[in-house]
Amino acid sequence: MTTNEAPAAKTVAMPEKLANPPKVGFVSLGCPKALVDSERIITKLRSEGYAIAPNYEGADAVVVNTCGFLDSAKAESLEAIGEALNENGRVIVTGCLGNDADRIRSEYPDVLAITGPHQYEAVVSAVHEAVPPLHDPYLDLVPPEGLRLTPRHYAYLKISEGCNNRCTFCIIPGIRGDLKSRPASHVLTEAERLVAAGVKEILVISQDTSAYGLDIKYAESNLRGRPVKARFYDLCAELGKLGAWVRLHYVYPYPHVDEVIPMMADGLILPYLDIPFQHASPSVLKAMRRPAHQEKTLERIARWRDMCPDLALRSTFIVGFPGETEEDFSLLLDWVREARLARAGCFRYEPVAGAIANDLPGAVPDEVKEERWHRFMAVQQEVSRKLLAKKVGKEIEVLIDEVDEEGALGRSKWDAPEIDGSVFLNGDTDVAAGDIVTARVAHADEYDLWAERTP
Ligand code: SF4
Repeated sequence: MTTNEAPAAKTVAMPEKLANPPKVGFVSLGCPKALVDSERIITKLRSEGYAIAPNYEGADAVVVNTCGFLDSAKAESLEAIGEALNENGRVIVTGCLGNDADRIRSEYPDVLAITGPHQYEAVVSAVHEAVPPLHDPYLDLVPPEGLRLTPRHYAYLKISEGCNNRCTFCIIPGIRGDLKSRPASHVLTEAERLVAAGVKEILVISQDTSAYGLDIKYAESNLRGRPVKARFYDLCAELGKLGAWVRLHYVYPYPHVDEVIPMMADGLILPYLDIPFQHASPSVLKAMRRPAHQEKTLERIARWRDMCPDLALRSTFIVGFPGETEEDFSLLLDWVREARLARAGCFRYEPVAGAIANDLPGAVPDEVKEERWHRFMAVQQEVSRKLLAKKVGKEIEVLIDEVDEEGALGRSKWDAPEIDGSVFLNGDTDVAAGDIVTARVAHADEYDLWAERTP
């Protein structure tokens, strides 16, 4: 279970009812966007006086925030609902799988309520029904930045919901709807609060970060008497002033992305772009209906590197998409060698129920997908090994994530939490999570770096 409890306070005599707040358990599955949804729901519940139960037994009800993207994720979500019902019995389901309420009900008729993704109000109402809140203003103990499921020193900042693209393998627009950008002042106020609360790294997320503001015509909003535009460039410029590491995820290689690269060269935004390329073959990209697939991406990457030589690119790819030929796949491998991406994840194509791609001709046999996946990983590991070897001997900044008796573990500017590599400071226990230290790289492999702190 995922939990986020307020730090223990000094012992204070409390009225009877404050000492026993209603307790809600939380199981959060899926992507960072679902995690942000969970954070919002938990923040709202805590602001109303609910406590978050650390286990099933102590909970008066359990909220399961599900993922409904891949079939494997759906199966995991259904399993989590079943487990919560067995262990607790009073279960509210929300998140992407909530759009398939019939399926949930047919397997688990005893679920108390089912809501879809980002239906925060509906989830909170369902909790009210299941476990009535205590009405006491003294219970408003939530810090201004809200409650988060990430460690104290980094936080995801969701700038929009939904997506205007229609990639053929994806059902997210059907689940989450078209792009809905948050006003820039809301996003920036949240970012300021996070930094004021000690967050050192902000991870900007959405389904399509480079499309930010398109739906609201880049509208201006008021940030303490000052107009700010809901535009990708303007948002990055504002975030770059906050003094935290700012990392951009889910960006597409549109021409206007060029404008933010100088901010990376100037150290305002991290020199890092997470661009889910998914493939390189024009015919596969066309069949996938990927955004920006007609851009001359390698030329664009070369220009970005001219502006910011330090830039790290991370991406994800799908192999075995329907119709992918050996020639398409070889083209992808050549592209990966030439693009020199710092990090790349690779998925074997999996048909998602309801996706258009399921009806495309040319299904690739599983054993071919498997073989291509191994070939892809071997090429990427070689690319990554060479890039990381170039860091040996260099002094880099490291944001510390964890410390134990054996040393510290952190990340460089080129590594996002959870998905990228680590920097190991073996034997260094004189640091704390959230510290940013300088260290000289002593060793590298295809994923991680080993370094020693410099004075
Ligand atoms: S960009 Fe494509 S893959 Fe990403 S959410 Fe939108 S439709 Fe899905």
